[in-house]
Amino acid sequence: MAKIARIWSREILDSRGIPTVETACMLDSGHVAVASVPAGTSTGTHEAQELRDQDPKRYLGKGVLQAVSNVNSQLGPAIVGMEVTDQEGVDARLIQLDGTDNKTKFGANSILSISTAVSKAGAVASSQALYIWINYLAQKLGLKPPLRMPIPLFNMIDGGLHGAGNLDFQEFLIILASSKTFSQSIQAGVEIYLTIGESLARRGAIHSVGNEGGYAPNLFTNADALEVLVESIKQTSYSLGRDVFLGLDVAANSFAKDGEYVIKDKSSPLDENQMLEYYQSLNEQYRLAVLEDPLSEDAWSGWKKLNELLSSQLLIVGDDLLATSPKRVEKAIAEKSCNSILVKPNQIGTITETIKVIKMARDAGWKIIVSHRSGETNDHFIADFAVGVGAEYCKFGAPARGERVAKYNRLSAIELELSRLRR
Ligand code: PEP
Ligand code: MG
Repeated sequence: MAKIARIWSREILDSRGIPTVETACMLDSGHVAVASVPAGTSTGTHEAQELRDQDPKRYLGKGVLQAVSNVNSQLGPAIVGMEVTDQEGVDARLIQLDGTDNKTKFGANSILSISTAVSKAGAVASSQALYIWINYLAQKLGLKPPLRMPIPLFNMIDGGLHGAGNLDFQEFLIILASSKTFSQSIQAGVEIYLTIGESLARRGAIHSVGNEGGYAPNLFTNADALEVLVESIKQTSYSLGRDVFLGLDVAANSFAKDGEYVIKDKSSPLDENQMLEYYQSLNEQYRLAVLEDPLSEDAWSGWKKLNELLSSQLLIVGDDLLATSPKRVEKAIAEKSCNSILVKPNQIGTITETIKVIKMARDAGWKIIVSHRSGETNDHFIADFAVGVGAEYCKFGAPARGERVAKYNRLSAIELELSRLRR
């Protein structure tokens, strides 16, 4: 068995040029595993808190030297000597040291960087591929997931807080049919992505990209962006409704104000019922497969109504609503608020807690979507994590930009390994 010999951390940059935390875990065998944490742009208020220095003289206040120092001088030393394969024990120690509900003392960024590095080191110590090790950890926590290649939700057009264009909705997604293998899905995703770029260029619309690699155009309405997707798919060999489906991460928090929603598609603000009607009409027209964060994060009664109306037809996904938080997931299960969860490990702060939340969602019959953040690094941990926990879907952004394709390329490698293992 291998023990944790040393933990150290440093400040690195994420894909937006914003500092984040990278942590290394050295074992008494001399092996080292390194992990870095992502960060959101459209963060929900119920997420675990990342610690930023707030020093205006460095990185506009966004430095993470305090979080790094917390790892180096307090959290790291406290887990030295622990068995690296005891992920639950290590995470419990980190949670206990922090002692706050939302990881405000040491920061979810410092805590998750250690938790992730330890899980990678646990895989090394047990001579297992990371996804197989995650699968083992999940089984120990009672999840019993199959090893499964997730279906990608590709973000093709970025709006809201992620795009430089003028769209209100944050992500216009394309979802490949479950009949496709992962490599077929990647090929289709890229072919459609490149075709969308050409369509936007032909329209004279901006086709530079947003935070997650999706195009960030100026269009008249949000529905126009769905039209661009429909038109572009028609120009490929794929058929909408058979090979490929449409989805939205509305990220409604970012444009909700006092219970009203202001969107380009309508001349005056919509109240909650009008917004629900609008989603019904969009669904009739575009047969959506996924609808994430359609209402703001605390609009519980509206979510319940929407779930009643549409959950038999599509995935109603809670992201800001749930914040990968056991308390919020419990409430959403009881109130029947949605039928799927977007899982972001940094919304809760440790690998063990993330797996426990997935188990709750799974026990409720929900679908699992493992997700990146808009600020990412080239760490592809979540690719292994998605396979290991048996997630049906993954949302890792556009099939473009280094930090996004790092995850897709890792999934391709796992697909190949699994096909060899199963042969
Ligand atoms: C999302 O909202 O699903 C997302 C990935 O964005 P962010 O990381 O900015 O929260
Ligand atoms: Mg979201």
